[in-house]
Amino acid sequence: MILLFFIFGLCMGSFYNVLAIRIPAGESLFTRSHCTACSRVLNAADLVPVFSYILLRGRCRYCGSRISGIYPAGELFTGLGFAACYVLFGFDIMLPIGLGIVSAASILSVRYLTKGAPSR
Ligand SMILES: [Zn+2]
Repeated sequence: MILLFFIFGLCMGSFYNVLAIRIPAGESLFTRSHCTACSRVLNAADLVPVFSYILLRGRCRYCGSRISGIYPAGELFTGLGFAACYVLFGFDIMLPIGLGIVSAASILSVRYLTKGAPSR
């Protein structure tokens, strides 16, 4: 069950990266992920949270440009945070609250680390 929360967190973390980076940039949330350097659309194998980053050694499969370590770090943080919430709270009213706090922390951290402090 802990593993399930961890994997769920990894997937949500991946989604939060997209939120944190595309919303401030005014990009659509529904276009497919692409390399920020060469704009090649990434395939499913490139989009597995954390593992793709490790397999590709942090580089784009097509152009070899470096991918920021913030993305896998954000995914890992959310995965560990979700697993920790389950360990701490179990299936309690605190669980969704804990998950919400981890989610907000993850989105804000990625936002902050990629674009600098929010203007307000
Ligand atoms: Zn590329």
